[in-house]
Amino acid sequence: MKYPCMSIDVEKIRHNAVTVSRLLAASGLRFVAVNKATCGHPEVARAMLEGDPLAVADSRIENLRRLRESGYKGETVLLRAPSPSRCAEAVEVVDTSLVSEVAIAAALGEAARARGKEHKVILMVDLGDRREGVLPEDTPDVARAVASIPGVRLAGIGTNLACYGAVIPTREKMEELLEVKEKVEEAVGFPLERVSGGNSANIPLVLRGEMPRGITELRLGESVILGTEAAERTLIPGCFGDAFTLHAEAIEVITKPSMPSGKIGQDAFGEVPVFVDRGNRKRAILAIGRQDVDPDGLTPIDKGVTVLGASSDHLICDVEDAEEDVKVGSVLSFVPNYSALLRLATSPYVEKVVKKP
Ligand SMILES: *Cc1c(COP(=O)(O)O)cnc(C)c1O
Repeated sequence: MKYPCMSIDVEKIRHNAVTVSRLLAASGLRFVAVNKATCGHPEVARAMLEGDPLAVADSRIENLRRLRESGYKGETVLLRAPSPSRCAEAVEVVDTSLVSEVAIAAALGEAARARGKEHKVILMVDLGDRREGVLPEDTPDVARAVASIPGVRLAGIGTNLACYGAVIPTREKMEELLEVKEKVEEAVGFPLERVSGGNSANIPLVLRGEMPRGITELRLGESVILGTEAAERTLIPGCFGDAFTLHAEAIEVITKPSMPSGKIGQDAFGEVPVFVDRGNRKRAILAIGRQDVDPDGLTPIDKGVTVLGASSDHLICDVEDAEEDVKVGSVLSFVPNYSALLRLATSPYVEKVVKKP
């Protein structure tokens, strides 16, 4: 075995996909499987398909292309609008794009027509999170402009909360989206098939039975992959929170003073660190760093281990109180949160190992 590695328990992801899918079905919702946190790992996508999603979604064209090449025939959704220079590529592998600019929709329409295709778009509405989306009052006019573009089919509207502004999805926000939908239908003169209500931060609403009828789907990544809702990061009942685990090896285990010695300036990332004097402590350096993982997003599985910090290539852990005797070559394991998983998945230095049942 080579380290560092991230093991992926696809059985747990499959279980989470089925659990979340049933949860949504009880509120009349379908789920769209979002696989961007794993860089579109095809085996993770296959596991998510066990929950019978409406589509597989990703923010990157490359990941959806890889999914297509792995043999997936169902609907693909691009979560981040394609750059104008990449609309031709997008229409090759993507069926539906989330957009918020008429210019992008026009470029997609042109690229689709050139290939004798039609491209579906979901127009995003900014309900306050202030990432992508047109303002609610402008949505009917923009929708009319998008719907008139040859080669483009306006399939619906959508919104995204709790990403940039950390705005919590509420029943009121969902009702506002449904009001926008009605105004859009009046403006374009045909009914919208889809109302895409949000992401894993909407799960608490579903659990409380507060999703209003009319929202057709949620786009879910974190809740299926990590088993957590994304508003307060609690585990969803019946889901596994440890489908992904990081394993890294100790390359130094030495007892040292917990306080640095000398005049304190900036650390490797321009921060001025603060230390607590805990006397001499046994510490392990693991061969993984900020280039591969967000150290603040790691929860040690081994009892008595805490993460102290990291530089680009070194992760420093306090192992003074570890139950197991940590030595050079010891392997410590961690459960990553979303931010840690994102970097682990992206790092070419971290081997991905799919756990076979
Ligand atoms: C990433 C993303 C999602 C999925 O978010 P999760 O919190 O992982 O469920 C949904 N919609 C959009 C537009 C996204 O960018």
